[in-house]
Amino acid sequence: MALSSCRLAAWLWEQLNALVTDWTQVVDAHGAVGRVPLLLDQVEREEVPEAWDELWDRLFLHGETVSAASFAALPRLAALAPACAQALELASAIVRGTLRHPDGETLLAGCSNEVDRLRELVDQRLRTRPADYNRLFGDLLALAGQYHWSASLGDFADDFYAVSCPGCEAEVTIAVGAYGCYAAIRDWDQGDIERRSLRPAPAEELRDPGRWMHATARRDGQQRLAEGIRYVFGRAECPACASVFNIAEAHTATSLPPALEAY
Ligand SMILES: [Zn+2]
Repeated sequence: MALSSCRLAAWLWEQLNALVTDWTQVVDAHGAVGRVPLLLDQVEREEVPEAWDELWDRLFLHGETVSAASFAALPRLAALAPACAQALELASAIVRGTLRHPDGETLLAGCSNEVDRLRELVDQRLRTRPADYNRLFGDLLALAGQYHWSASLGDFADDFYAVSCPGCEAEVTIAVGAYGCYAAIRDWDQGDIERRSLRPAPAEELRDPGRWMHATARRDGQQRLAEGIRYVFGRAECPACASVFNIAEAHTATSLPPALEAY
């Protein structure tokens, strides 16, 4: 039994590798084969804005749909990324979409070197404190395998997270931002009622991934982001049952994205 499982895994791995390397078999978001490699040829030769537009459309349709072609394109995009911001952005966007494809994690495992390199490039960009810091921070989280936080972390200007209390399953709204940092029950007529102040984690007590996320934001002078992370990785008191719970754990349990259909 174990042997046949191994053989099956090896066979699957071969098929996936073949899928990644043989462009005639790789279908893009529009169900086409062959178009993406031609576009990559073009942008490798020169800067062609229309080619980039079409690549975004075929590899990251509507800003959310990734396909086998998206992952197959990663090595070439990663090779372009050090000198081309478009390539870095598109490659990172594809990695952000990993969980949106049923085989995403397996396909991504085939280009772990490229992902490491992309992560390094994004980290370098973050150190320069760019205007689009928060988007790039989301890219970094995805490239570090933190897809859930990449998708859900805001900028803490005015963020709300819906979590289910692990004690009583009440739906608790967690607010972190200018309106305050509290746990509450959201009432459609009265707004957030029965508010309880959040208990942010002291920086030295943070555990990964919160510790690493906080340290990165602090390193780059992003105080609001760093403070927000201490809140999200801290604790809240449930207004309904008064139990105190870990917000990050409750949020992860509540909102892990379901596997989506294949494209
Ligand atoms: Zn509760």
